[in-house]
Amino acid sequence: MNRFDYVRAGTVAEAIQAFQADPKARFIAGGTNLVDLMKYDVERPERLIDITRLPLTAIDAHEGGLRVGALVTNAAAAYDPRVRERYPILANAILAGASAQLRNAASTGGNLNQRTRCYYFYDTATPCNKREPGSGCSAVGGVNRIHAIFGTSEYCIATHPSDMCVALAALEATVQVSGPEGERSIAFADYHRLPGDDPAKDNTLQPGEIVVSVDLPENGFATNYTYLKLRDRLSYAFALVSVAAVLDLDGDSVKTVRFALGGVAHKPWRNRDAEAFLQGKPATRESFRAAADLVVAEAVPQSENGFKVELARRAIVRGLEQAAAGTPQSLSDKRIQ
Ligand code: SF4
Repeated sequence: MNRFDYVRAGTVAEAIQAFQADPKARFIAGGTNLVDLMKYDVERPERLIDITRLPLTAIDAHEGGLRVGALVTNAAAAYDPRVRERYPILANAILAGASAQLRNAASTGGNLNQRTRCYYFYDTATPCNKREPGSGCSAVGGVNRIHAIFGTSEYCIATHPSDMCVALAALEATVQVSGPEGERSIAFADYHRLPGDDPAKDNTLQPGEIVVSVDLPENGFATNYTYLKLRDRLSYAFALVSVAAVLDLDGDSVKTVRFALGGVAHKPWRNRDAEAFLQGKPATRESFRAAADLVVAEAVPQSENGFKVELARRAIVRGLEQAAAGTPQSLSDKRIQ
């Protein structure tokens, strides 16, 4: 790890000013991703701006929903009674991720900003466009079993590692940020980006901007939801495929539906055409299979991850069935008899 300066900010304005004074600095909160990257020599910041003392640690009522401060730890969010009661899919998704120790340290804002997942990104002996633009992508044609099947480019096929963000995509949360140009709101679907020809950028934050909160809308889909995570082992593993599915039903028909996939793209993956297809349809396996077929029709698997296409198709059907039946089956919330 290289030597670095350390400063601590007391307010959001102070943190932004500290960044403007040294645009190569990095903000640090829980450090659960950045410190790893520094140890692997992937990140070499000369200055860290500690933002853990900023007043962003509350969960408050906001416009009928909840405003989750960016420094609320993943554990605090998952165990907050209001989150558990009104947004159980979010609590479930958070508890499906990482370990208890990591969830105690990791922040809400940091979870959004963790870097995409790829062995080669962490291995400085190999080419990687995300780490070193223009050097090439070792994963294309390489070891790519865990990589993306949607939204890839020839420059990068990495996946976003978060569970929490998959639930936030299905809930259509809003990200509030503050930066040198003032404050702005970003729809969750627009927060993370696809790699295109610039895979070094994971999200749409501008230099010096800080996430200040994640706002949850009024409807938390607390009855018909599921977060289904499929992985190589039962814990401490990233998703091969995950599905966050939420539904409102009108009798036996689908009134509103959203579903997002994790482990398959550079960002939580939604297919609006498949969601629109389900609107008004009977909430049956046949409808869900047809929607899943629409999603996977766009998949472009790599040399080693073709299995993800069928896994995603089946996970979508199972996730939607569980959501429709009100029988979520996550590690923390099993209701199947
Ligand atoms: Fe780097 Fe992305 Fe290629 Fe992985 S998939 S080696 S992160 S460019």
